[in-house]
Amino acid sequence: MYEDIERVLVTEEEIRAKIKEMGEAISRDYAGKELVVVGILKGAALFTADLFRQITIPATLDFMRIVSYAGTKSTGVHRVLLDLEYELDNKHVLVVEDIVDTGLTIRFLMDYLKPRNPASLRVASLLDKPSRRKVDVEIHYKGFEIPDEFVVGMGLDYNEKYRNLREICVLKPEVYTRQG
Ligand code: 5GP
Repeated sequence: MYEDIERVLVTEEEIRAKIKEMGEAISRDYAGKELVVVGILKGAALFTADLFRQITIPATLDFMRIVSYAGTKSTGVHRVLLDLEYELDNKHVLVVEDIVDTGLTIRFLMDYLKPRNPASLRVASLLDKPSRRKVDVEIHYKGFEIPDEFVVGMGLDYNEKYRNLREICVLKPEVYTRQG
């Protein structure tokens, strides 16, 4: 796996420290509130698990699965493959994403979840690629801003591979021509 990596953008230690910080901020902000953490599968599965472990107040965990991405290009079309198990009425909802790129997925999720009447609706994302934004979205808890490069690791894949890398990495260009 590591032979396909050109360089590491964010190390395992940096990720661990940042997630701890984010967990502390979330625990402070939602103290005394009914918090529902919504992980977006599959990309945010690993980040959601790590972040949820760092939340020190009572909270529930739910997941959604959205498809929107083919290869390295966003199609801008979203489909819900798995919806939430529980109602959101009067709950404080925190959507957890792996990366915000164009912002279209977060925009779709906000529009999809708002009608369910949550008390509040916020977003936590491990990564942010601000230079690629097409729609304006607010990220309340942000891990790392990264340049406009396709990254893998920590749950993020290329054709379903590399999700189990512990760092955020850029792949060698020949990987895309080999598998693309
Ligand atoms: P957006 O809708 O903001 O353009 O894209 C969000 C989704 O696109 C993310 O949840 C992720 O699945 C995918 N994505 C965007 N940039 C990258 C990237 O650099 N690497 C990978 N593996 N997925 C990405």
